[in-house]
Amino acid sequence: MIVLKTSRELALMKEACRISAEALKIAGQAVEPGVTTAQIDKIAYDYIISQGAQPNFLHLYGFPATACISINEEVIHGIPSESRVIKEGDLVSIDLGAKINGYNGDNAATFAAGKISPEAKRLCDTTREALYEGIKKAVAGGRIGDIGSAVAGYCEQRGYSVVRDYTGHGIGAKLHEGPEVPNFGTPGRGIRLLPGMTIAIEPMINEGRAQVKTLSDGWTVKTVDGKLSAHFEHTVAITQDGPVILTEL
Ligand code: MG
Repeated sequence: MIVLKTSRELALMKEACRISAEALKIAGQAVEPGVTTAQIDKIAYDYIISQGAQPNFLHLYGFPATACISINEEVIHGIPSESRVIKEGDLVSIDLGAKINGYNGDNAATFAAGKISPEAKRLCDTTREALYEGIKKAVAGGRIGDIGSAVAGYCEQRGYSVVRDYTGHGIGAKLHEGPEVPNFGTPGRGIRLLPGMTIAIEPMINEGRAQVKTLSDGWTVKTVDGKLSAHFEHTVAITQDGPVILTEL
């Protein structure tokens, strides 16, 4: 179901998104060689709780942590672990959100551990830029396909693949609401974008092929070809005055 938010609801979401963005920033700052993904998860958890909010991924569909932390060929949904130590040159994707006053925020970014390869940096930069290309198309009167087409076009031109098995989503009182927000599509197709819609746009971009598989832990999604993946996400409100990035600090 797609829920259009009032300005009062948008104000409440803005607080959830601010906390989500701060938590992601702090978690990202903790990424360095020698740190475990469980330590990063704890930092995000402690910050969200300190703000009087709740980590909204924790226990959702049974997920056991505050953040999804996915390294290198892992795309999304990596489970933080005390035995997972970040190494020099790793690409560390962190996805997390917070809920407060009944509303949710959701955001993700890929961080470099120490010095990364030029190839890894180009993938990261392209994925972040593709997110902003998609956000530009989150305008009232447009269509959902405009967003996905912009994201995919930007990445595919640069030789990358767009993960198609997972998409962005509407967000509000529920972390996952309608509509689906694919990172591919046809301009002018799909549902019409209306003021008051709040959506999470989240390109997952692969260095190699688009195909992904889920590991035996039931959560971690990785590239089938073992090549790198990056992930950036913002929660965005569609307004009469254009897109507003709620998770931008
Ligand atoms: Mg999301």
